[in-house]
Amino acid sequence: MSTSELSHLIRPLVRDLHAYVPGEQPKVEGLIKLNTNENPYPPSPNVLKAVIAATDGRLRLYPNPTAQPLREKLAALHGCDASRIFVGNGSDELLSLAVRAFVEPRPPGSEGGQPSESTVQYFAPSYSLYPVLADIHGAHRNSVALRRDFSIPAGQDLVAGGWDPKAALTFVTTPNAPSGRGYSLSELREVCAMTRGVVVLDEAYVDFARENAFALAREFPHVMIFRTFSKAYSLCFQRIGYCFGHPELIAAFDKVKDSYNVNGLAQVAAEATLDDLPYYQANFQKVIATRSRVSAELSSLGFEVLPSQTNFILARPPRLPAERWLALLREKQLIVRWFSAPEVRDYIRITIGTDSEMDRLLAVVRAELASS
Ligand code: PMP
Repeated sequence: MSTSELSHLIRPLVRDLHAYVPGEQPKVEGLIKLNTNENPYPPSPNVLKAVIAATDGRLRLYPNPTAQPLREKLAALHGCDASRIFVGNGSDELLSLAVRAFVEPRPPGSEGGQPSESTVQYFAPSYSLYPVLADIHGAHRNSVALRRDFSIPAGQDLVAGGWDPKAALTFVTTPNAPSGRGYSLSELREVCAMTRGVVVLDEAYVDFARENAFALAREFPHVMIFRTFSKAYSLCFQRIGYCFGHPELIAAFDKVKDSYNVNGLAQVAAEATLDDLPYYQANFQKVIATRSRVSAELSSLGFEVLPSQTNFILARPPRLPAERWLALLREKQLIVRWFSAPEVRDYIRITIGTDSEMDRLLAVVRAELASS
């Protein structure tokens, strides 16, 4: 069978899909990686010890299928019943399960209309995985523009901007990515109150923010909070995310998940993380302090730096186009991220690294500005 014949074996939806492109993970010596919002600090020594101690003959056994001990620990942390917690293989899996559990694939022949029960709704710009998940599922996307300053339009403006209050599923990245902007509880409450489908508040970066929106998931049964151990808890490699929501919505996730969706060593690492929270809280404070210093220094060098509530900053560089800065920094062994979407193409996104990594970035920027 030739390759072109094989392509006909693939569903047209998949054949035509524009897949999500993760930030690159080059393993090049000396490279400073400021492109995927990883935490620059390692997991706590106790977490590493726990993972090493669990790496033995037990690897032949299946892990706990529901990560129950971890759910119970998370429930104790949030003062709720474990029936309100679900654990996933990274929060990316949670996002995908939400689409699977709450959104009807588009009925055939509905190209003209946009039935709410088949709609995945999100703000633009926000996490670029959301539209891809909608496409994979054969759902409609409803992308609603944020204001130019990346704030959420207020009630009437939101409706005028095309908000569908009945969309089956709405994703809100809060604090926002890639802008880094934080949203207040009252802004988010308005969005939750005016939307009847499930609203997911994707709080991947919330540990670096002033406030979180957990209270809204307690207030509204159709609102869920998604969190991850990747960013604040230095566990990208292990893939752990969790969500808090009404037990009925959580039970729907349990029905559609893979049997053993969270691997055993990840469960061990996440449980050990929860036993060592002060270590991580100290790291959040370090990242926040570095973020303030670097934001101020880049501003003084002519960058327009958006105020950030996350572990990255979005900055519009001076003199040269953002894409050119991306290449220029890369030549000096510094990887940052650039997005081609029109609202953000003039900016680069810089993950907050250690102080010495950021000093290197600032030195390269200063040298470039001095020579151009
Ligand atoms: N939500 C947002 C807004 C993100 O930026 C990311 C990381 N790319 C995720 C969710 C997924 O994180 P993870 O799957 O590592 O938990």
